[in-house]
Amino acid sequence: MEENIYVTRPSLPPVEEYIEYVRQIWDSHNLTNMGMVWQEFNKGLSAFLQEQHVLPMSNGHMALEMALQALDITGEVITTPFTFASTTHAIVRNNLTPVFCDIKESDCTIDPDKIEELITDKTSAIVPVHVYGMPCDVERIEKIAQRHNLKVIYDAAHAFGERINGVSISRYGDISMFSFHATKCFNTIEGGCAVTRDKETMLKIYQLHNFGIVGRESVELVGANAKMNEFQAAMGICNLKHFEENRNARKVIFNRYRERLSGINGLRLLDYDEDKNTYNYSYMPIFVDSAEYGMNRDALRELLAKKHIYARKYFYPITNKFNCYKNIGFRGNTEIAEQKSKQVLALPLYADLNIETVEEICNVIEEGAGNGVR
Ligand SMILES: *Cc1c(COP(=O)(O)O)cnc(C)c1O
Repeated sequence: MEENIYVTRPSLPPVEEYIEYVRQIWDSHNLTNMGMVWQEFNKGLSAFLQEQHVLPMSNGHMALEMALQALDITGEVITTPFTFASTTHAIVRNNLTPVFCDIKESDCTIDPDKIEELITDKTSAIVPVHVYGMPCDVERIEKIAQRHNLKVIYDAAHAFGERINGVSISRYGDISMFSFHATKCFNTIEGGCAVTRDKETMLKIYQLHNFGIVGRESVELVGANAKMNEFQAAMGICNLKHFEENRNARKVIFNRYRERLSGINGLRLLDYDEDKNTYNYSYMPIFVDSAEYGMNRDALRELLAKKHIYARKYFYPITNKFNCYKNIGFRGNTEIAEQKSKQVLALPLYADLNIETVEEICNVIEEGAGNGVR
């Protein structure tokens, strides 16, 4: 490749569409604090998600922190380490103890068979992750939560625009968080949102995200600042218009990857169920079994890097192996998560990635397989 190819590339709307809104912001002299553009975005977002209570925020991480705070979660929270730093940090930063549950081999989401053995009288919530946009086993998680009276907060950072049996993925759990970071399939530069079906919970998150201010002279909660500004909201309005067209473009790329890579010895792909789920096709993780493939994950990454293709180890290391948690010794056996994290390589996938580039990436991976012992 002549130019460098990275794992993702932010989608941008035609610049004229954004400028229209910038002009509107200039005219209003209103830059933030839930202004006109924010309100328009929130309305469009709620309609898109088919949800009544949606709050656009400064980023997904703060939405997750405030979701935990809004539900008064205490003690232990069951979650997975096969995720971005944010999930575990949000739990720890709320003075809660993460308890790590292992993931399923088939799709890398939390293994419902292993949740109940981790529940103690201190457990108050489950924070599962729809990692790579693979929907968690939402029905089984719901049953477990009901049986043990636990709250469920989904880290849906990867799952924007997805549906399970035709229903928005945000319909499950007490709260869902989406991330609109530049690297995600839908972006507001930085940004995110919280979604809940409970009006009171939404009101509390709304107050928390604006310093806990309730009235002109009344501050009721120890909140912080997680407000989305007008420029972010403008980007959201513009990008949302192109979301479906971008999803379709990614699907073509995703399908080509699957056609080319699913037959290669020693490479594993996740199990997608397209009859049940509507995906957003924003990640293309492959898992390298070095014995079978003839080369390990790191060697394959190097091989691609030589051709200026920069695949990423999403997610390595797993969060319970982070240096900042070295001395804490969290509970939970996460063998499969650890194994997966040593095998995973996320390949470039974004709406305007050339199909020729995809063919070339697949050629390198195919040749790599030929390199080693079978
Ligand atoms: C991106 C991401 C977040 C955090 O979202 P930000 O908008 O970047 O704060 C949380 N969890 C996961 C799994 C993510 O990938």
